Amino acid sequence: MNMLSSDFERLLTTSDPTIVDNLFAEACRLRDEVYGRNVFMRGLIEISNHCKNDCLYCGIRRSNSCHRYRLTKEQILDCCRTGHELGFRTFVLQGGEDAWFTDERMCDIVRSIKAAFPDCAVTLSLGERGRESFALLKEAGADRYLLRHETADRDHYGRLHPSEMSFDHRMQCLQDLRKLGYQVGCGFMVGSPFQTIETLKKDIDFIAEFRPEMVGIGPFIPADGTPFEHEKAGSVELTLRLLAIIRITLPHVLLPATSALGTMHPKGRELAIRAGANVVMPNLSPQDTRALYSIYNNKLSTGSEAAESAADIRARMKAIGMDVPVDRGDHA
Ligand code: SAM
Repeated sequence: MNMLSSDFERLLTTSDPTIVDNLFAEACRLRDEVYGRNVFMRGLIEISNHCKNDCLYCGIRRSNSCHRYRLTKEQILDCCRTGHELGFRTFVLQGGEDAWFTDERMCDIVRSIKAAFPDCAVTLSLGERGRESFALLKEAGADRYLLRHETADRDHYGRLHPSEMSFDHRMQCLQDLRKLGYQVGCGFMVGSPFQTIETLKKDIDFIAEFRPEMVGIGPFIPADGTPFEHEKAGSVELTLRLLAIIRITLPHVLLPATSALGTMHPKGRELAIRAGANVVMPNLSPQDTRALYSIYNNKLSTGSEAAESAADIRARMKAIGMDVPVDRGDHA
């Protein structure tokens, strides 16, 4: 779908419920045509909250004082074991940019997961690394990589990040990942400071052109201790409309109902599925580290066992007429 700026603005701002209902219905129709009534589960494992970067929005930015942790290889494998028993067939290893996770250590972890759970996909979300590093991780068995572009507008990027961080490098990473054969995910926060309809249009145009296999979007939520701690949070309604627009733009995309939506609204994830999303990412991290991975305030963390949250999410999805298969949920 190649949308005019005026149509795009109207879809985001209209208060006509019929237009919005039709938008969501069309998104769901396209999703169901490609993937059926399936929601794919990914087990999120937050491997480290050490980060060398100082993104202005992020609660684990290097200059924020928070208690730092990193998981051991054994802890990560334990999380996968628990997840596998619960029917997870994708593990997402996410973390800050932590130099402790060298290529050698990370490749060893990926290889060990793939050896122990050959029926599973491994997704990495470890920020920017060099092309050589991405190549080694791919060789070690990583299947997918999530790296939100954060904003497709260079000036906007410069207002969300310190000057030592580079818009071009982030975009280059996405191109490298694509060339190396990863299933690639990009994405952005909805309602990040200085975002406008124009910058959002650039995000959608970038997504339409880059054609990622996955897109992660969720509302911006202020994080204590960051330069943006007093900024307004992003809107759930706007996020839902953008999810639908992304689904219509790329009918085959894997589109998570993010925890940030679940944090902002008790039924946020259900609403996202009704707007065209088809992925959920329950947390498999050890219970005592979940609260420490505090990228924004009040991050959804039930504190319940992985088994409980998997059962809860399955029940929630079933209640809105969706199936949750035991499946890697690869891009169609
Ligand atoms: N370090 C990796 C990277 O840069 O891709 C992965 C971890 S990073 C914390 C994951 C994502 O969290 C970011 O891409 C960003 O969009 C999101 N995030 C960070 N701070 C946030 C906030 N305050 N509100 C909502 N999302 C946030």
